[in-house]
Amino acid sequence: AKAAGGRTYRFYDAKMNDEAASRMRIRSHLARAVEKNELSLLWQAQVDLSNGSFCGVEALVRWTHPELGQVSPATFIPVAETTGHILPIGTWILHTACRQAAAWLAQGLQISSISVNISMVQFIRGNVELQVAEALRSSGLPPSLLKLEITESVFMHDKDTVLETVDRLVKLGVKLSIDDFGTGYSSLSCVQRLKVDAIKVDQSFVRGLPGNAGSCAIVKAVIDMAKAMELAVVAEGVETQEQCDWLRQNGCGIAQGYLFSKPLGASDFENLWAHAAWR
Ligand code: C2E
Ligand code: CA
Ligand code: CA
Ligand code: CA
Repeated sequence: AKAAGGRTYRFYDAKMNDEAASRMRIRSHLARAVEKNELSLLWQAQVDLSNGSFCGVEALVRWTHPELGQVSPATFIPVAETTGHILPIGTWILHTACRQAAAWLAQGLQISSISVNISMVQFIRGNVELQVAEALRSSGLPPSLLKLEITESVFMHDKDTVLETVDRLVKLGVKLSIDDFGTGYSSLSCVQRLKVDAIKVDQSFVRGLPGNAGSCAIVKAVIDMAKAMELAVVAEGVETQEQCDWLRQNGCGIAQGYLFSKPLGASDFENLWAHAAWR
């Protein structure tokens, strides 16, 4: 199909060079992002659909570089995973999130869970249980409030290693949740063996609610399966009232998305938490 002309090739080459160059720039600047204090966390509320109250919050990392500007985590996390910088970055995220959550508890915000994304690389080779234990110890955050979001990609790795890591995390008393559920490689038996507490329905399925019959069938099946296994279900990327209504009617417990709030800086999040509720 591309034989149609050198133009097409040149277009692709230029684009690929741009992308490669951009990855190179990201790589070289990422090394010092932590020490230069360029990372920050945003916070996105999770809503209990049974009563409209806030229940949890997810920490989402942001990187602002003086020249590159805001670089999306969807861009820089994969680069950090290949360079290994995800390990110090992931440690920074864990510590910062736990410290902020402990401060909120001390201020009286009744947050029942704080979710932190854990990269597959961090999970597989980062001594993640030591990092988590240290973040809990230094912040004083009760372990049961910390929920680690892992993706199905961890299942591609040696099962024994993954299960041992999970066991050590469970012993620490933290919770586990499977992010982007339905987009990756997990089987139902993996979910069962992993002792997870919650499943996050990927936003690509939520987007199709309530109009797309296929999306409805998938989300319904995930909710029913989670119920049978006594797992919590969180729907992510909820943008419309129609999606929210469908999810509530079909037994989804928790929702997260722009309908309720975008990810916010800490002080905006505090205001939201203090003042808003959905019914
Ligand atoms: P994710 O963990 O699946 O996070 C959900 C993404 O959807 C976030 O994008 C969030 O801002 C966005 N989002 C939330 N509500 C809505 C909505 O209603 N509609 C739409 N269209 N989007 C919504 P973000 O913050 O850009 O993060 C993208 C991905 O980068 C994350 O996907 C996660 O895989 C990764 N990431 C973000 N923060 C971290 C982190 O602290 N550590 C690690 N390892 N990965 C992170
Ligand atoms: Ca997540
Ligand atoms: Ca997700
Ligand atoms: Ca995702």
